[in-house]
Amino acid sequence: MRWGLIGASRIAERVCASMRGIEGQELVGVYSRSAERGRDFAAAQGVAQSCTDLNALFAQARPDAVYISSTNELHAPQTLAALDAGCHVLCEKPLAINLDDAARMVRHAALRKRVLATNHHLRGSLAHQRLRELLAEGAIGRVHGVQLSHAVSLPRQLHGWRLNQPDAGGGVVLDILVHDVDLLRFVLGTEPQTIHTVAQHNGLTQAGLEDGAMSIVAFEGGVLAQLHESFVAAHTLTRLDLLGTEGTLNCMQSLTVSGTPVITLRDARGEHAIPVEQVDLHAQTVRAFVSACAGHGAPLASGVDGLRSVAVALAGLASASSGCGQAISYPA
Ligand code: NDP
Repeated sequence: MRWGLIGASRIAERVCASMRGIEGQELVGVYSRSAERGRDFAAAQGVAQSCTDLNALFAQARPDAVYISSTNELHAPQTLAALDAGCHVLCEKPLAINLDDAARMVRHAALRKRVLATNHHLRGSLAHQRLRELLAEGAIGRVHGVQLSHAVSLPRQLHGWRLNQPDAGGGVVLDILVHDVDLLRFVLGTEPQTIHTVAQHNGLTQAGLEDGAMSIVAFEGGVLAQLHESFVAAHTLTRLDLLGTEGTLNCMQSLTVSGTPVITLRDARGEHAIPVEQVDLHAQTVRAFVSACAGHGAPLASGVDGLRSVAVALAGLASASSGCGQAISYPA
């Protein structure tokens, strides 16, 4: 796969490292708004060329696919341009910052017959895949509750547009809640129906952007999920608890790429550790995407999955500002 990179971002450095580890992946060009940043990125990441004109990336580097990791407000126009140039698109989350754009991206990918995927990388975790299997096997009976804590201390180097640019889709809800909602859709296999969110300002974000949020999401089938996302939680571990009528599953440290996931099953027979291997989550996303582009299987998270997590996040933000729960609706 000939890859074009759109955005010389920090996450692209990580994803490029994953791509380089997968046979057959060629980094043929990077687009950046800054010529200097693009040049530096290309040199550091082994990318063949850099440019400041998106059309030049398509025309000169001739990528089969692009990985888009610009700030969030650019995901939609850049995806549409890449699809028009005949590229498959792996786009960072949130897929877009409004539902009209997200729906347009999904429709355009179908029209152009290209794969559109969203980098909801947590689906690639073997811990999360195991949890999904255990639920399907009935290991804890009927699931009725979920508690998820994805509270982190946002590293200093990630301060910037996430904290001070509402127009770029900053704030913890569009940044982290989208991942959590996608993960629960994946693990539970059901869709969120309503969301109640209370947002918090701890002084890290500028006015108008939240740096903490707690939500209650009701899923089809009656599962209630409690979600906590934060940028200001020091020295804590992420956790995911799945509560069933016959037992519970607890998964620690699976929500950050640096964590080592630990799963514990508690049921009538006692407490059991479930072994789980740690893998490179971005490599998992890239592998599935490359296969899907070759006509084998589906990406880990599709454009529709990206649209759905954005729909829930936007309903959460609407709930936080109105003080009322919101029904979640998905564009056709
Ligand atoms: P960065 O702030 O590192 O980069 C975002 C964009 O800003 C880049 O594409 C680049 O655009 C520009 N940029 C980069 N460095 C600078 C700089 N020093 N000064 C000015 N502009 C700069 O963002 P992230 O890597 O944190 O996030 C990028 C996207 O990836 C977001 O959509 C985010 O939500 C997503 N993300 C996803 C993760 C995941 O695990 N799935 C993890 C982290 C982020 P250009 O080169 O065109 O100017």
